[in-house]
Amino acid sequence: MTLGKKAVCALCDKPQAESYKPFCSARCKLIDLGNWMNGGYKLPSEEAPSQAEILDLSDYLSHKRQQF
Ligand SMILES: [Zn+2]
Repeated sequence: MTLGKKAVCALCDKPQAESYKPFCSARCKLIDLGNWMNGGYKLPSEEAPSQAEILDLSDYLSHKRQQF
């Protein structure tokens, strides 16, 4: 493992995007937030969540936030 420290997504190892650091996309950022909130949500390997799932998660998170 001496390929240098390229900044990759904390979730999926794709290159990080400036606006979503340390993730590659809004998707990974959301998923990580969900992980954090749920304390152990498992990613289905390699499979990208559908738009509906992402919207669902956003919705879930905004509800969570309102509770705090
Ligand atoms: Zn990613």
